[in-house]
Amino acid sequence: MRKIFTCVAIIFLAVMVVYGIFFSFNKKEQKTLIAPQTSLIKMKAFDHLRNFPNVHLTDWNLQLVNSDNAVSEQEIDLEIIQGNLQLDARIIDATQKLLEAAKKTNIPLQIISAYRTISYQEQLVQKEIYQNIAKGMTKAEAEQQTYRLLSKPGHSEHNLGLAIDVVDQAYYRQYGGQLLPEAVSTSKGAIWLKENAANFGFILRYPQGKEEITKIEYEAWHYRYVGEEVAKYLVQNELTLEEFHEKLKQLKM
Ligand SMILES: [Zn+2]
Repeated sequence: MRKIFTCVAIIFLAVMVVYGIFFSFNKKEQKTLIAPQTSLIKMKAFDHLRNFPNVHLTDWNLQLVNSDNAVSEQEIDLEIIQGNLQLDARIIDATQKLLEAAKKTNIPLQIISAYRTISYQEQLVQKEIYQNIAKGMTKAEAEQQTYRLLSKPGHSEHNLGLAIDVVDQAYYRQYGGQLLPEAVSTSKGAIWLKENAANFGFILRYPQGKEEITKIEYEAWHYRYVGEEVAKYLVQNELTLEEFHEKLKQLKM
């Protein structure tokens, strides 16, 4: 009886030892299976940060102006470009280089709108609302439709002097200053700008598919200066200025 008991005890111990070895081996295998994936994710996250522009939320060229953020009270040092238009003097060089580069590739550009005073923005908004009412819309509908394409006075990047509405000269000859979404987006100038503007510090500010974030319909003509480093980063990572500001806040930059 005692022998049987000893035998059972030995078998039980042996089973425990074998199970223990197997279990720890299995655990190790699980670890080696998980480890490469985790480090890959970490590496990717690190990569994203390594290329992150070394800039700050308060940089003049990153000022966020949209339906929630008005232009801050400030004196803008304006300079003339393309005859009678004006822009913030700090972006004149970059804008001229952009225009020259487009000209060299045989797609000369035409700036339709640059700096606008807040009162001029008010006139534009009122005119658009009246035109929409004339088309048969109610006042509320007319306003809603207007603010899909025009920012409220004081909430437009044109009030900052850091944005341009730009098309190619062939388009301009055909349509003048009218900005027709379909016609502009398929024009040579818009295609060239989408591919090259970032090299001069400009971004397509209201891209297709980001309307929920920008609260503005896709505008193939509206380019905003943010500086070359940020512009390239935003294009590579398909980010809007709103999303970039969120990242800067998260990183406390
Ligand atoms: Zn614009």
